[in-house]
Amino acid sequence: MTETNEATRTTYRVCVLPGDGIGPEIMAEALRVLEHVGEAYGVRFACEEHLIGGAAIDATRAAGRTPTALPEETLTAAKASDAVLLAAVGGPKWDGAKLGEARPEQGLLAIRKSLGLYLNLRPVRAYAALANASTLKPEVISGADLLIVRELTGGLYFGAHETQADVPGAGANGAAGMHATDVMEYSEYEVERVVRWAFEAASRRAVRKVTSVDKANVLSCSRMWREVVHRVAAEYPQVECSDMLVDNCAMQLVANPGQFSVLVTENTFGDILSDEASMLSGSLGMLASASLGDGTALYEPSHGSAPDIAGQGVANPLAQILSVAMMLRYSMHMDAAADRIERAVDAVLASGLRTRDIAEPATPADKIVGTRAMGQAVIDAFEAAE
Ligand code: NAD
Repeated sequence: MTETNEATRTTYRVCVLPGDGIGPEIMAEALRVLEHVGEAYGVRFACEEHLIGGAAIDATRAAGRTPTALPEETLTAAKASDAVLLAAVGGPKWDGAKLGEARPEQGLLAIRKSLGLYLNLRPVRAYAALANASTLKPEVISGADLLIVRELTGGLYFGAHETQADVPGAGANGAAGMHATDVMEYSEYEVERVVRWAFEAASRRAVRKVTSVDKANVLSCSRMWREVVHRVAAEYPQVECSDMLVDNCAMQLVANPGQFSVLVTENTFGDILSDEASMLSGSLGMLASASLGDGTALYEPSHGSAPDIAGQGVANPLAQILSVAMMLRYSMHMDAAADRIERAVDAVLASGLRTRDIAEPATPADKIVGTRAMGQAVIDAFEAAE
């Protein structure tokens, strides 16, 4: 039955980028879910598949073009879409790329930069049904529900990178050796737009609290970051605000994750902390993310291309499916559909079904399923939902 369509349009263009490794396997399940959403809500998702990452490097090289991880046609399609749904890029095949040669992750950095995606959003929930799948004690993670807001286009990853060889005195015992430099830099506006988004998000959450993470005792970038946070915080008296040093935060995330609601931080710290926080959910295979800017947004799982299990049909598709839910919520304003997917995932987990990465020693063998069966279970639960 077609439900009331709260989407503002009846057709949305989605640029689909399966990428490398397990990407195509988990993307297939996400697209099957999306197709059911379309049927249920009377919306057409016009999905167009394009290359990114290692697959794009191979294809452009085979076509006699300059190898690139982000072909022009992919970027053009992405910009013309309402949303980009990406899986993951990378793998050992491309790890040996020499300096100056194309690398899969360049595709990711370039598409984020080209789409102006300056903010990454990663919700992390401790699923009650997966409490034992985490390496952390259930009583520690119980009730944890946080939103990590990470700056995405500034800082160390986008500053100048340089490696020099044969620099006098850079080697052992005063000999010549290599010397490398990576520049961390931020402008005030880059910090403010992310921090403001974090306060807006916090003001709509049950726990109105922002924890800003920095290294203000050492870094100039962090001292400026803190100043901006305090200025913006004054505009949100209803939101509790505190600063936390990144090293302390790394510890607090595993010691007492329930204290956090919205956590906002710069690019590199956010990269590391969000992977650490993923353990609260039991597996990287559970975490979706959204990258937002002023134009087309991009949705992707937080994990990589998992080359160690690629092609085996055992990858967990839930993070990719939950990325679809985020896409529906943030790019299509289909909140009810997004909620329904998330409830379907909850129901599947509550039924005991597990992919290998979230299975426990006590999980019965007949409850451990592959990628396709997990995708089908979510579709069945979605269809069964009111
Ligand atoms: P990874 O996230 O790919 O894998 C880490 C571990 O988690 C592996 O054991 C893997 O099997 C497991 N895992 C990840 N996703 C899973 C899923 N959906 N289901 C079940 N298990 C899952 O990280 P890595 O091994 O450090 O990197 C592998 C490749 O991915 C590298 O080339 C790296 O550069 C790339 N990478 C890409 C992205 C991205 O595309 N956003 C992010 C991180 C790493």
